[in-house]
Amino acid sequence: GGRSYSFMLRTKNPSGKVPNQLYLTMDDLADEFGIGTLRLTTRQTFQLHGVLKHNLKTVMSSIIRNMGSTLGACGDLNRNVLAPAAPYARKDYLFAQETADNVAALLSPQSGFYYDMWVDGERFMTAEPPEVVEARNYNSHGTNFVDSPEPIYGTQFLPRKFKIAVTVPTDNSVDLLTNDIGLVVVSDDNGEPQGFNIYVGGGMGRTHRMESTFARIAEPLGYVPKEDILYAVKAIVVTQREHGRRDDRKYSRMKYLLSSWGIEKFRDVVEQYYGKKFEASRDLPEWEFKSYLGWHEQGDGAWFCGLHVDSGRVGGNMKKTLREVIEKYKLDVRITPNQNIVLCDIKSEWKRPITTVLAQAGLLQPEFVDPLNQTAMACPAFPLCPLAITEAERGIPSILKRVRAMFEKVGLDYDESVVVRVTGCPNGCARPYMAEVGLVGDGPNSYQVWLGGTPNQTQIARAFMDKVKIHDLEKVFEPLFYNWKLGRQAKESFGEFTTRMGFEKLKELIDSYEGSPN
Ligand code: SF4
Repeated sequence: GGRSYSFMLRTKNPSGKVPNQLYLTMDDLADEFGIGTLRLTTRQTFQLHGVLKHNLKTVMSSIIRNMGSTLGACGDLNRNVLAPAAPYARKDYLFAQETADNVAALLSPQSGFYYDMWVDGERFMTAEPPEVVEARNYNSHGTNFVDSPEPIYGTQFLPRKFKIAVTVPTDNSVDLLTNDIGLVVVSDDNGEPQGFNIYVGGGMGRTHRMESTFARIAEPLGYVPKEDILYAVKAIVVTQREHGRRDDRKYSRMKYLLSSWGIEKFRDVVEQYYGKKFEASRDLPEWEFKSYLGWHEQGDGAWFCGLHVDSGRVGGNMKKTLREVIEKYKLDVRITPNQNIVLCDIKSEWKRPITTVLAQAGLLQPEFVDPLNQTAMACPAFPLCPLAITEAERGIPSILKRVRAMFEKVGLDYDESVVVRVTGCPNGCARPYMAEVGLVGDGPNSYQVWLGGTPNQTQIARAFMDKVKIHDLEKVFEPLFYNWKLGRQAKESFGEFTTRMGFEKLKELIDSYEGSPN
C-alpha cells in the first residue's frame, strides 16, 4: 500500500540470445506486472519498465526460474556483453558468441552480495541463485574454465560500469568502438578462428558544459592468440580496477585512463598483468553496419528472420503476433544492438506459414520500413528514465518523419538515409555520438546537435550546435541536407560531408540558405 514504486529491470543476455522460454516469460511479465510492452535495449537485453515494488519479488523469481543465469547487471561492473545477433552457422560468428558467453561468465561477480537487491531500504533478494554460480564457473558447454584465474573484482568492484563487445571482421552491428573493450575474432584462410584484435577505451557518456568529459572511440591495443583471450581481458579489467579514477564518477570510465596515460603506457601496464606482450594488430577489412532484416539462410539448413522494432518497443499487434509465432514454433530469438529482433532456427517448411503471419501483421516488409527508421535509435527518456531532460523514444517518430519530409523537399531519394540517434540526456545510452545526426537532450524540448558520425560507426561525432529547439530542426537541417545533395562527392555519406565541409562552413550554409528550389 501507500506509495507505489516503479522499477526498471535489466536482463543479461550475452550476444542477445533469448531462449524460447525466456521470451515467453518476459512477454507474460510485461502484461502481468509491467506496462504491457517489452523493450529491447541497445545492449541486447530486455528492460521491463514499471514493475511495482510489491510485485518485484515475483517478477525476479520468475525471471531467474525461467532464464537461468540471466539476472541483470547494473552497477559498477561488467554490463551485458555484446556480440553479433545473427545465428550464422559460421565458425567465426559462433566463436564470437561463445567468447561473449565466456567473458560474461568470467566477469560475473564472485560474491553473492552483488545480487542483493535493495529497494527503499528493504532487501528483496539475498541469495546468489545457483544458476548464477553455474554461469560464473562454467561456460555454455559446461566446461569449467575459471578455475585458475584469480577473482576479478578482488575486494572492490570496478570504479564504474564496464562495457565489452565481441564481433567478427566487417560486422559492426555491435558498435564495437563505443565499448571499453572491443574484441574482433581473427581467422585464418580456412575460416578457423586464431585470435583477436583488441580495442580499448571507448565510451559514450559525458556531461553538458564540461569539456573535460567526452565521448571517445576505442583504439587498437594489439592482437592475442585465442587461448589467451580471457587472460588478456582480465588484465585490462584489473588495470582499470587498480588505476581507474575513483575520486570522481564523472571521470571513472576507462576511457579517461586511456586518455590520460596514452595507449603506450596503458599497453605497458596491461602487459604486466597479462604477463606477455601484445602482438601487432592484424589488418582488417572495412566495417559495415548489419541490420539482418528479412530472411537469411543460417548455413545449417535453417533460416533466420530479422524484424525491425521502432526504438526496441514491442507492443500491441507486434507483441501479440511475435508471441504467437515464437510460441507455436518454439523459436529462440536474439536481440540486436540496434534494438531489433531476430527469429532463429526456422525450418524451411515453416518459412511460408511464418511469412504469412508476419506479413499479415505488417511486420515482414523491410522495404516498407523507412531506411531512416532502420538505422535510427532512441533511448527511453521520458517518462521512464529519471535522468531524462527531454523526449527521445516518444519524440523520434515525428523527428524521422520530418527528416524524410526535408529529404523530399530538397530532392533526396527514398533510399537515401542518415543515421539519426536521439537521447534524452548526455549519458548517451543510444550512442548518439556515433550518429550522422545526433540529438542529445540539453533542455526542455531542446537538443545539442552532433554531426560527423558515419554509417558504419567508425568516427566519433562532434558537437555542432547547442540548445536547438525541436521546432527549429528544419532551420538547421534543411540547408545541410540541401547542400549535401548539391555538393557531395560520389557516394559521400552525410557524416563524411559534414566532416569534409567543416563546422564553420556548415554554419555559413545555414545562414545563407534561401530555400530549396524544389
Ligand atoms: Fe536516460 Fe539519458 Fe540514458 Fe536516455 S541517455 S535512457 S535519458 S540516462
